Order: sequence, then C-alpha cells, then structure tokens
Amino acid sequence: LETFVERILFWNKSINLISRKDEESIWSSHILHSAAILFKVRIPNNSKALDLGTGGGFPGIPLKILHPTLQITLLDSTQKKIKVVQEILDALKLPDAHAIWGRAEEMGRNQEHRGRYDFVFARAVSDLTTLVKWSLPFLRSSGLEGREGRRQLGYLNIESPALLTLKGGDLETELSRARKHKSIREIQTIDLILKGADQLEGSGKKLVVVRF
Ligand code: SAH
Repeated sequence: LETFVERILFWNKSINLISRKDEESIWSSHILHSAAILFKVRIPNNSKALDLGTGGGFPGIPLKILHPTLQITLLDSTQKKIKVVQEILDALKLPDAHAIWGRAEEMGRNQEHRGRYDFVFARAVSDLTTLVKWSLPFLRSSGLEGREGRRQLGYLNIESPALLTLKGGDLETELSRARKHKSIREIQTIDLILKGADQLEGSGKKLVVVRF
C-alpha cells in the first residue's frame, strides 16, 4: 500500500488522479475509503471483479492488495490513466490484475468481458441508474452463493452477481430511480462507519450493494 501511495503521489504531479487537496489525506480519504468495503462485506476468495472507472486504481488496487485472491480488472475510458495504472500494477507485481482502456458501454459488449465477472466495483463514477446499466453486461448470470449464511460477525456475506459502489450524500432520489430496474433483486445501503476513522465517521459515506 505504501508503494501504491508513493506511485499515486508521483504520477499526480503530471496527471490528475486525486485532487491536490486530498494528497495529504490520501490514506484516510482514498485508501481507507476503498478498503472499507472489506470491513463491511465478505468477498469470496477467487472472485473475479471489475473496477469500473478506476481512475488511478480506486477502489480496485487497495482491494486487490488487501484481498490477494481477488482477480481484478481495472477499466477506465481515459487512456493516460490506464497507462499509469498499468505502470503501478507492474511496480507492485500484482498477479491476476489487469488494466484495460475503454468505455464501459462498449467493453460490456466485448466477448472477453461480457458475463465474466462476479462483482463490479465503482467509486465516484456515475449515478446509480447508469452504474446498474453499465455493470449488468459484465456480470455472470448466476453467482457464487453466500456459503455461511447471510450475516456473520457483522459482515454481510455478499452473494454475486452484484454491483458494489461507494456513495455519499443524499441517496434517496438515486435509489428510488434505480429500484425501477427490472433486473434488480435487492439494494442494500451500508453506512461506512469504522470505529476511530474520523474521515468516514459522520461523513454520510455509504456502500451501496445492488444484487441482480
Ligand atoms: N474510481 C476512481 C476515479 C473516479 S473519477 C476514484 O475513486 O478515484 C471517474 C472515472 O471514471 C474517470 O477516471 C473517468 O475517466 C472514468 N469514466 C467515466 N465514464 C466512463 C465510462 N463510460 N467507462 C469507463 N470509465 C469511465
């Protein structure tokens, strides 16, 4: 994670990966925010996931580092960001991690990616309805079932296929619009409150889990 932070801060001098004002708080505002997903849901080992609109690798790279069996594909429509993400993956020597350049709407029609993923992650990419539309083509039609019951030790045992997106602010309008989508089985919102993490405490940040 330290190498990742060091590479992000290096590249951020020439390309906008995170806002300048966030550089000092990168650990709490970006790394912890990305990692918070793993404090709240149990992602099964060897799951295959897509980070849609990864930017500089958030949340995909911290998730891959902290959950090494995850197979992750990092997608972004900005070529220079994907070049940087590829450089970072090479520097970190992460296995089963790929960077691809393309628009979600188009890549979802590509045979290599269509129906191939258990999970789609997205952070700060688009509204929920658009994310649902973009994610669905990537997801497998039937998933890995939660093996140990739905809740255990405060974790949500997530069942795939699902979209997991980090959201803030007032979500009610977005949620009621997205709920109209006929493929959705369930939407859950989880408060990202972590004991002692001031950046997340009271910030209203949420993890939205959409199961199909
Ligand atoms: N997830 C990162 C970046 C958020 S910015 C983070 O949390 O820091 C949103 C990113 O989504 C940008 O890098 C942008 O290039 C990408 N993006 C926007 N529309 C996209 C699309 N249709 N397909 C793929 N990537 C897209």
